[in-house]
Amino acid sequence: LGPTITVGEILVEIVATTEGEGFLEPLDLIGPFPSGAPAIFIDQCARIGGSAAMVGAVGDDDFGQVNIRRLQRDGVDVSAVSVSTDHPTGSAFVRYRPDGTRDFVFNIAKSAAALLEWTTQLEMLVSRAGHLHIMGTVLAMPSAWEITKRAADIIRARGGSLSLDPNLRKELIDHGQVREQFKQLVEMADLILPSGEELVLAAGVQDERAAVQSLFQRGANEIVIKRGRAGSTYYDRHGARIDCPAFLVDELDPTGAGDCFGGAYVGCRRLGMAPAQALNYANAAGARNVTVRGPMEGAGTRAELDDFMARTARASS
Ligand code: ATP
Repeated sequence: LGPTITVGEILVEIVATTEGEGFLEPLDLIGPFPSGAPAIFIDQCARIGGSAAMVGAVGDDDFGQVNIRRLQRDGVDVSAVSVSTDHPTGSAFVRYRPDGTRDFVFNIAKSAAALLEWTTQLEMLVSRAGHLHIMGTVLAMPSAWEITKRAADIIRARGGSLSLDPNLRKELIDHGQVREQFKQLVEMADLILPSGEELVLAAGVQDERAAVQSLFQRGANEIVIKRGRAGSTYYDRHGARIDCPAFLVDELDPTGAGDCFGGAYVGCRRLGMAPAQALNYANAAGARNVTVRGPMEGAGTRAELDDFMARTARASS
């Protein structure tokens, strides 16, 4: 029915190579790496073989080129990524603390990605798209939220489907209209890919089975729960459950695992694979990505993920 599309932030990430707190002294940094949750998602979706297109904006600068070149190299249609001459590409500086949490300096609020407009190219893309993947981060960007709603209506009207990665921190939900908008997103989606914490946030219920049931009652058909090093679980509305144990890897950089997982899962499902096979590829995509530094540097093609699965042991379930 047409490509999978996603809307939202494109930025570069620059990473400190030493663990510690903050950026108050000179540090060794690596990057710029292409980044942004929707960009990572769509890159992995294309790499696995899906037809994929990105909706977003970058500045007329090298950081924008880093992103556009990567997405193009990996087969993403960038016809609806606009290049702004007024605003720069967003950036994020990241440093890991010894306990695994991260310090960030974000320059996104006034970047090109925060000021999306409905363009002719976007209209043309949406009118032939078959699936919209929504990242919860659109709720922090009013222009991306407006575009998402408009695109969702058009894609729905032509028989397309919608997926949602809540990607929402607990602290954000009580800001302004976020809770109400989040509720709308949950009710729009056919497929929801939450972490355990996001599942509770979306359903308002602690118990996993009850939370999943509540989301099915609100319209979802498939729910896939991401559990980090504990793998993932698939549920459908008819009572099926599939648990997928994680691959055993050394985690070097956790950023982007959930986005790669989602890109592989949605890509595989849209290629016609059954849930169990899609879940396997998604688990492999998330695990492979954490073994490489940089948010989307470990995204894999289908052949690369097959090779990864053949030589990587799994945790016992
Ligand atoms: P993020 O927001 O940081 O991208 P997330 O919470 O959305 O992460 P995770 O659960 O961390 O997503 O990761 C998604 C999937 O990737 C997991 O369900 C798992 O299959 C795989 N994965 C992530 N981290 C690891 C790890 N350390 N070892 C093995 N597999 C992992």
